Amino acid sequence: MTEKSTSDETGPAPSAMPRAANAVLTVDLEDWFHVCGDPTYSDPSTWDSRVKRVHVGSEKALELLAERGARATFFCLGWIARKSPSLVRRIASLGHEIACHGDLHRRVFEMSLAGFREDLRRAKATLEDIAGAPVLAFRAPEWSMRTPENPALAVLVEEGFEIDSSLMAVPPIGPITNPRAAVVLKTSAGPILEAPPLVGPFFSRPAMLGGGWTSRLSRRARIEAAMRSALAQAESPILYLHPWELDDEHPPMRLSPVARWVHFAGRGRVLPRLRHFLASFEFRPLAETHRETLDAKIRRPGAGLRIVEAPAAPDSPERSEAAA
Ligand SMILES: [Zn+2]
Repeated sequence: MTEKSTSDETGPAPSAMPRAANAVLTVDLEDWFHVCGDPTYSDPSTWDSRVKRVHVGSEKALELLAERGARATFFCLGWIARKSPSLVRRIASLGHEIACHGDLHRRVFEMSLAGFREDLRRAKATLEDIAGAPVLAFRAPEWSMRTPENPALAVLVEEGFEIDSSLMAVPPIGPITNPRAAVVLKTSAGPILEAPPLVGPFFSRPAMLGGGWTSRLSRRARIEAAMRSALAQAESPILYLHPWELDDEHPPMRLSPVARWVHFAGRGRVLPRLRHFLASFEFRPLAETHRETLDAKIRRPGAGLRIVEAPAAPDSPERSEAAA
């Protein structure tokens, strides 16, 4: 099958090969204290007084990506971009995609639609100003988009977003009927590409295998099998991580036992696994991975996505003309 050809791929796809599905690494660019709905940590007025560690894990991720010539999608908080503009600028300058994780890490359902739009606009404007490129993809803090019927998806379309990566088919975060692979959703404002992270079985139940505590506690072989299964079906498996998962000196936190488990369990596995996956799969950013779908089904004429290094396969000349 195609497994062998991708397993030892360490750089860009050979130009003689037709473009196939690839893996996608996403990083939620937030700091260790960006915890939703926690009285100790979720109040933005407390954030300035906390020790900032986002650069530590971010630099580790950037180093591993550079070693393999891989590029990722960074879902950045607007707040992080204002506090650490040089970090966001550097990530963009290395060819990674800058995407949006909201401005103040607020869950979608905690805001009115008008409040959501305001948060979104501030984050998008901040990120585009700093990165110097359009921000097209969004991920809701704590997967708080919940269902394809959420009217906030139409707000994303109205505000110029083309991709959402917030739905999980993992109860109670989202109903089991949510999409498990990339799909075009229709909203009242137009279509949007939904690109959910990798989901697979964990103790016979659907679970997040692309990242988070269930992924960290799953065997690596299980995650790898789910990735290869997706690729064999021409789907692009999406992994996700946070900089604090790569930080050996993560500050201690005051959390409930359950929240502590969710935050810290299996954290030591993230870095070696990332190294392994980067050596085993080809990774490209989200918008680049789904470029053909965006061009054909989402993008309005003149929307203008700037793609960095996205060579079209020589046997499919129609791909090269759509990126302008
Ligand atoms: Zn987050």
